[in-house]
Amino acid sequence: MQGIPVTDLAEEFGTPFFLYDGDVLEGTYREVRRLLHPGVDLFFSLKANPNVSVCAVLGALGSGAEVSSLAELRTALWAGIAPQDIIFLGPGKTQREIEACVSTGLRAVVCESPAELQRLERAAREQGRTDVPVLLRINPDFVTKGSGLAMGGKPRQFGMDVTLLRKQRHQLRELRHLRVRGLHAYMGTRFLRHQDIVHNTREVLRLAAELSAELDIPCEIVDIGGGFGVAYFDNEADLDLPALAAGADEVIDGFLRTHPGSQVICELGRYLTAMCGTYVSRVLDVKESMGTRFAVTDGGTNHHMAAVGVGSFVKRNFPMRSLTRPAGTGQQPYTVTGPLCTPNDVLGKNVLLPQVEPGDLIGVERSGAYGPSASPGLFLSHGFPAEVMVRAGCAHLVRVRDTVDDLLSRQRLIDE
Ligand SMILES: *Cc1c(COP(=O)(O)O)cnc(C)c1O
Repeated sequence: MQGIPVTDLAEEFGTPFFLYDGDVLEGTYREVRRLLHPGVDLFFSLKANPNVSVCAVLGALGSGAEVSSLAELRTALWAGIAPQDIIFLGPGKTQREIEACVSTGLRAVVCESPAELQRLERAAREQGRTDVPVLLRINPDFVTKGSGLAMGGKPRQFGMDVTLLRKQRHQLRELRHLRVRGLHAYMGTRFLRHQDIVHNTREVLRLAAELSAELDIPCEIVDIGGGFGVAYFDNEADLDLPALAAGADEVIDGFLRTHPGSQVICELGRYLTAMCGTYVSRVLDVKESMGTRFAVTDGGTNHHMAAVGVGSFVKRNFPMRSLTRPAGTGQQPYTVTGPLCTPNDVLGKNVLLPQVEPGDLIGVERSGAYGPSASPGLFLSHGFPAEVMVRAGCAHLVRVRDTVDDLLSRQRLIDE
């Protein structure tokens, strides 16, 4: 990576680890920024990768942050992102989170229900505020196509149904400590067809304009969600970003013509970080069972549940390769598994790899999003792996691996 052999990094930092190419991260952000409408503000969804250094690279390039917990909020601030460039969203905000939302001076708090609106109003009153900016999250009533995980058109714990929101006109008028600035909708994740994203953007902006007129609330900020996908599996193709940008431009121009001075926010997690990351694990054992060759590594489900695909019906492989030997002739299928005592702990099934020996490194690519943050890191008490970022030719440890002592120190032994 950037001229540094990954084998050297593995020696220096140990395995398994997540390896981030900070320059690829920067390149991805710049590409999105260059192509998307200049009227769109980009917000990085920390959920996809809450590493503070990842967040700092994006923040330094001008990205805002979309956070959903106190720790994510602190991470974004630590990464140098200004409070006014942060939005806080998520169902089930605790009282401490509500108070932090009010006191931090955020761009906006995304409100998920009428009751939460009242809790926010109360917290704002107690803090003597009269203008806490709020976006109302809509659970859209139209179904979206093409998402790996669709949001609209179904009962959801997120946001407010359009019919419910329509009944809030009076309640919204009564707010004295909050200032409703617009609406938010998130249609789902892993969209790979630009047509679907353009369609959703059009529908969300149309609905936001309609609701703001109907409810007599401003439409100064509309958060159109995001959910841009990356291709992981054989039968998938990457999003056509230029086509997406061209289609969205027309829709956004149309909206800004009727709502001059409005801001459109786009939240991106996976798209910004997936490509820059590789999950690196070391082969501990090579063996055969009933005609299948297994390469057993020191990393698996506990760090990279997305690649393992637990919960999905068929096992599909993320792109994988040997980081020790060049791909070439004589590749053979290996099933690459982790150290856990479950048959589901399979990183890749029948992956074509050059001859694999114990000690070799295996890389799972496109792994910079929803890795550690979406994996059961305590499973079998291995703890979370190290994270390393290579930036401008230098390798930095950006997360220290959990040690046995770290794990045990959180427990308490009762006297028997
Ligand atoms: C998860 C989430 C995101 C990020 O989604 P990606 O598909 O990773 O871009 C953005 N907004 C909301 C509301 C989310 O829940």
